[in-house]
Amino acid sequence: MDQTPFYRQSYGARRDQLAQASHLTADQLATLAANRQTTDEDLIENYLTTYGLPEGVAVNLQVDGQAVAVPMVTEEPSVIAAASNGGRLLSGQSGITTVVANHELMGQIVFQHVADQPALRQWLQDHEATLLAVADAAHPSIKRRGGGARSIRVRLLRPDWVSLDLFVDVSEAMGANLVNTMAEAVATYIRSQLDVDILMSILSNFATRSLVTASCVVPVDQMKTKTISGQTVAQRICAASDYAQIDPYRAVTHNKGIMNGIDAVVLAMGNDWRAVESGVHAYASRRGRYQGVSRWWLDDDQKLHGELTIPLTLGVVGGATRVLPLVSVNQLIAKVTSVRQLMGITAAVGLAQNVAALRALVTDGIQKGHMHLQLKSLALSVGAQEAEVAAVAERLADQTQPTIEQAQTALTVVRAENLKK
Ligand code: NDP
Repeated sequence: MDQTPFYRQSYGARRDQLAQASHLTADQLATLAANRQTTDEDLIENYLTTYGLPEGVAVNLQVDGQAVAVPMVTEEPSVIAAASNGGRLLSGQSGITTVVANHELMGQIVFQHVADQPALRQWLQDHEATLLAVADAAHPSIKRRGGGARSIRVRLLRPDWVSLDLFVDVSEAMGANLVNTMAEAVATYIRSQLDVDILMSILSNFATRSLVTASCVVPVDQMKTKTISGQTVAQRICAASDYAQIDPYRAVTHNKGIMNGIDAVVLAMGNDWRAVESGVHAYASRRGRYQGVSRWWLDDDQKLHGELTIPLTLGVVGGATRVLPLVSVNQLIAKVTSVRQLMGITAAVGLAQNVAALRALVTDGIQKGHMHLQLKSLALSVGAQEAEVAAVAERLADQTQPTIEQAQTALTVVRAENLKK
């Protein structure tokens, strides 16, 4: 048996080993081969194949005065429809406006067993300029790109921890690697100056200095349905928003709906959705209780206001953006040329997603709109081919909760009918 570690084996040897252990058929091996992208082989370790996800485009979004088409990558039906529907609901007048407060990432140098916390804090504060210079010297090109280490903060934590927080303007990049490089260089410098125990140096994904706000003001009439007035729908949307502030069980689902849109944009733009997810959920808990990250309220003038503020650690350069070939195409489709634009568009999709979900929830319920696309997905899951999907979905439309067995039966019937044609 080959004793070479798995990661050092050739592509073919790794694939054959897996095929043997998992009893893969020739068809299954052909699927792996058909999806293999040689450009991806250096992106991750132990590469096997490339797992594709569908990409669609959200339309009707008006962000900062511009109409934008936003590429979204998701496997979930209804997400892109909801973003487009939300875009339509929030269109007119100024549409969605966005403000990026800042785009700094934080590196953390964690000291343990600190005998005199105030003395260490004093030393760090006294040496702020030197520490920033050490950080910049570790990644000098970032200054040429308009970024660089900006400030420090020292937090004393019980019983004997100290965190030195290093804030870095990461310019157009997401910045994780460059901040890690800087934080490690600063830690090495401090070790050379002081007898301290530094436990670790790493960025924090709780990116409270990379906040973006998307907001909108629309006449309540825009929320009306065929049977319910805009005023009533808007009041119910506000109530749903208030409820997500007080009940974490609802807040998590409220935010999941927002993240349906945000993750899909983050993926389409080749960015790190785990970083975004962890940051947003931490931000949702910043007051000590998990809450909805968006708010909706009414003014005295029959206008509905919506606002979403979240941390977004995104980049338009670096990371996987330079490797995944669709990213540059998607940046062009969304007309994204800067990280601040990308942050704005991503937050705007989150707000649009949120209003569409809340409006559906407080009126018809979520399933009515979902079912159409879920039926297609069910048809695909039982093996319907592209030309058969619509007919299978139509056959299932009468069922309130169609099952896999019913979908299989519908497919059999559709195929039998097609044979007769
Ligand atoms: P890179 O390591 O690719 O660094 C970005 C590089 O882009 C810079 O070093 C810079 O190099 C270059 N660049 C070109 N133009 C610009 C510009 N205008 N502004 C800024 N940089 C520019 O990526 P990041 O440092 O952004 O890190 C992101 C990656 O790190 C993601 O893949 C993420 O998944 C991963 N990661 C995430 C972690 C986390 O979230 N906890 C932890 C570790 C990694 P130069 O100036 O030399 O040309």
